[in-house]
Amino acid sequence: MSLFVLARRFVAGEEVGPAIRAVRELNQSGMSASLNLLGEHVSTKEDVLRSTAEYLRLFDCIAESGVEANVSLKLTQLGLDIDPNLCYDQVSGILEHPSSVGNFLRLDMEGTPYTQRTLDMFFRLFGGHQNVGVVIQAYLHRSEADIRQLNQARARVRLCKGAYKEPPEMAIQRIPEIRARFLELAGSLLADGAFSGFATHDDELIGGVKTLVREDHAEREKFEFQMLYGIRTATQAGLVREGYKLRVYVPYGTQWAPYFYRRLRERKENIWFVARNLFKD
Ligand SMILES: Cc1cc2nc3c(=O)[nH]c(=O)nc-3n(C[C@H](O)[C@H](O)[C@H](O)COP(=O)(O)OP(=O)(O)OC[C@H]3O[C@@H](n4cnc5c(N)ncnc54)[C@H](O)[C@@H]3O)c2cc1C
Repeated sequence: MSLFVLARRFVAGEEVGPAIRAVRELNQSGMSASLNLLGEHVSTKEDVLRSTAEYLRLFDCIAESGVEANVSLKLTQLGLDIDPNLCYDQVSGILEHPSSVGNFLRLDMEGTPYTQRTLDMFFRLFGGHQNVGVVIQAYLHRSEADIRQLNQARARVRLCKGAYKEPPEMAIQRIPEIRARFLELAGSLLADGAFSGFATHDDELIGGVKTLVREDHAEREKFEFQMLYGIRTATQAGLVREGYKLRVYVPYGTQWAPYFYRRLRERKENIWFVARNLFKD
């Protein structure tokens, strides 16, 4: 069995067509989406230009198909490792493309070697474009100060726990403390921030956000829950039934391996799922 057959649980397809079809199905279930062309740490200018062209095409496909979706991307896919000016030119070109002007682009957050560079790039882009947002990882010690700055700028933030292995000098290590920090930061976004995305599959955090919203009388229109394609689909449907906004992150493309392995590592049952299927005849 090819590994991609297994990756299909988390990845909508290798081409944009199946990804748009997956989004259409999500839309029919009352969910919006964020499409991501898989790829990171691109090391040649030619590959960067290819990624840019694919993102322009993606925004065109979203507009032509009429699906309810925005786009998420990683800056290392658009040249951050090669030259920040090259990267800036690519992303601002995408933001100014006619079919993306009325839509929205989220800059995903990568590991700590990229945190400051991603935020610098975000603020540089946000100076001239309103249709861009960024991600903050709750486990980083610096995130409280970053959220304060982003709230002041009225920037749109996605809050997540953080997916990369980081040292204790940089990040909280224990899950209960990460959860507590997530909810503190969510409270600050709800009170002082712009429209926010709370990206988690964790029942405790989902319940915690609902409580914050109830207690602070925050508007449901001020935030959305965000989850990954193929993960906790029953919980996703339940949130929609309860009337919450839900956006599903839908990755696609041929460069699916690093994303797939990150999802496997997050949960040991996933490793068993792969192992069982690989050795099944
Ligand atoms: C929309 C979205 C965007 C994200 N963007 C970023 C980003 O830009 N940068 C970044 O560092 N991180 C990002 N993340 C990842 C995030 O930081 C966490 O690593 C990830 O969401 C796992 O944490 P959790 O809060 O979902 O809780 P967990 O405690 O990991 O999960 C709670 C429950 O959800 C289910 N679950 C979670 N993960 C899986 C899985 N892989 N397979 C099967 N079941 C699972 C399980 O039932 C688990 O018990 C994003 C996550 C989401 C949902």
